[in-house]
Amino acid sequence: MSRHVIVTGASRGIGAAIAEFFIHEGDRVVAMSRSGDAPDGCAKSFALDVADSRAVNEAVKAAIEEFGPVGVAVVNAGVTRDGLAMRMSDEQWHEVIATDLDGAFYTARATMASMVRARTGSIIFISSISPFVGVPGQANYAAAKAGLVGLARSLAKEVAARGVTVNVVAPGLIDTDMTTDLGAAKDTMAAMIPMGRIGQPSDVAGVVGFLAGNQARYITGAVLCVDGGMAMGH
Ligand code: NAP
Repeated sequence: MSRHVIVTGASRGIGAAIAEFFIHEGDRVVAMSRSGDAPDGCAKSFALDVADSRAVNEAVKAAIEEFGPVGVAVVNAGVTRDGLAMRMSDEQWHEVIATDLDGAFYTARATMASMVRARTGSIIFISSISPFVGVPGQANYAAAKAGLVGLARSLAKEVAARGVTVNVVAPGLIDTDMTTDLGAAKDTMAAMIPMGRIGQPSDVAGVVGFLAGNQARYITGAVLCVDGGMAMGH
């Protein structure tokens, strides 16, 4: 049956690949990003800042009115503003926390009520292996992405009895616009990939699709690393 799937950060990179995965499955995909760009085949697209809780609430409400209860929410929008902690500005810190952690909470909160009412649904947060391995220059990003694990596991316990699963996918180094500008951190991370290659957005999309599917209905509160082996054991 066609699901109503919301994907934040769907304009490009990992989010676009996730949106395309669900479109291919025949689902009605609602894309959200700052630009409002979306892959062909999305049912609707919203241009918004996920750090603006009112904008997120209004968009999710409009999407539910048009497409019904949210079946799957993929909380993927994120930014990096790298810099060594001693030189990191308040603005660098707050921009990443606001987008990657506050925005994730706002999106999950806005989507989960309709799932609880429907007694089914999946929320999938796109974190990162950064908090598990530690990456110099990413204190803000690693803190936000670590926060997603605590957020997801708390939500998972709040809604488990209502048939709603909440999981985390933690990608390693994936070939997108975000990693084009990583600089020295990219070399540090690339040297740590046992599988010897950088991941592709489709590598992440397939795992998200699995977690949202029927075969994964008994998985909740899990963190799945999609990283070519970078974080194993952490
Ligand atoms: P990307 O190519 O830079 O795309 C980022 C996406 O997030 C874009 O769609 C962007 O929208 C959206 N976005 C950013 N800030 C937003 C905001 N305030 N409000 C709404 N949308 C916003 O990044 P990516 O590599 O695909 O990353 C996707 C997710 O995976 C992120 O959470 C990232 O932290 C995580 N991740 C990536 C990697 C990697 O190696 N690439 C590794 C681990 C985790 P616009 O196009 O409108 O700007």
